[in-house]
Amino acid sequence: MLVLGGTTEGRELSAALAGRDDLLVTTSLAGRVTSPPGSESPATPSDASTRDPMRRRVGGFGGVDGLEAWLRAHEVGAVVDATHPFAATMTRHAAAACAAAGVPLLRVERPAWQPVDGDDWHDVESVAAAAQSADRLGERLLVTTGRQEAAAFAPVRAWCLLRSIEAPTPPLPARHEILLDRGPFTRAGEAELIARHGIDVLVTKNSGGAATAPKLEAARDAGIPVVMVARAALPPGLTCVADTPAALAWLEAQASG
Ligand code: NAP
Repeated sequence: MLVLGGTTEGRELSAALAGRDDLLVTTSLAGRVTSPPGSESPATPSDASTRDPMRRRVGGFGGVDGLEAWLRAHEVGAVVDATHPFAATMTRHAAAACAAAGVPLLRVERPAWQPVDGDDWHDVESVAAAAQSADRLGERLLVTTGRQEAAAFAPVRAWCLLRSIEAPTPPLPARHEILLDRGPFTRAGEAELIARHGIDVLVTKNSGGAATAPKLEAARDAGIPVVMVARAALPPGLTCVADTPAALAWLEAQASG
């Protein structure tokens, strides 16, 4: 079995399946961060699944054809795509490669956050649109959309606090500060951050999940707007569950069927 990871759900699945002697489970990471949580050594591109007790491989497969070839070469019986809700390319590639190789595929995707009373959300379709919207709304932005897309904020005139797990690379906004941090975060901690930096707009992807949700509560408490980047639509016909227990139940059914 192959788990496409890089998320809490991917880590939970790997942990739950580790040590099973009836299943060979490999977890795949893209290799975007040098020290993913749960790793004892830096993630370097490799296909070291046979040497790693967690059977982890790191790095891209080489598109749809590369993934299809990998599935065939490793005689994969089922794939769980537990990548992040915004890893849309990997999700598309997994759907196409599994269809081509005739391998059952499950998508595990945590539900999107929903606004509640007191929220002032501004929904946008892309990080570039979020940068434009936030620049119109405020003067001091807390940008949590991630290192890979920080360049979308290069043209903004507002001051930006760029929070990410690893440092973003230029181009970056003219006026900015970088804050390296990885969740989970707390409501009190997020409130303190917003107050300390005089933040007047929060920018986020609609990632869902509990670990990074406290920023939304803190924004509501502070009465500041949230620019929310919407998810792309899933490929049609995908079997989808919302959490790790449901994904484990599906894997059990695949293993016993
Ligand atoms: P992406 O844009 O959907 O994928 C780009 C390419 O990266 C894919 O075509 C694939 O390369 C490779 N790739 C992505 N996920 C992979 C995986 N789990 N194993 C092996 N190769 C993978 O992905 P992304 O948004 O850059 O995300 C990369 C990783 O970071 C994912 O594992 C995702 O779960 C995690 N992550 C992403 C975000 C986010 O906001 N995007 C947030 C948190 C975590 P090939 O075509 O060569 O196979």
